[in-house]
Amino acid sequence: MIHVTLPEFILLAMGAALSLLALTWFLAVLFQRRHEYRARQDLIHCRICGLIYENPEKLEVMHCTGCGSQNEATKPSPI
Ligand SMILES: [Zn+2]
Repeated sequence: MIHVTLPEFILLAMGAALSLLALTWFLAVLFQRRHEYRARQDLIHCRICGLIYENPEKLEVMHCTGCGSQNEATKPSPI
């Protein structure tokens, strides 16, 4: 059996809790970035009027719903 004093035990418990919190935070950031990346896959940014609209059929070239100009399927830059 490992002999641990009370201050050492408290320090170990706090270290374990902080490690768990950091891991949870890291995973939450990873899942959020993945979700934003997937949501951005179907969007097109119009180079003429600046409108951002969806491309559900994933066409290479699509007409803008605002001004009617043709735009290539390029993802808008992240904020
Ligand atoms: Zn447009």
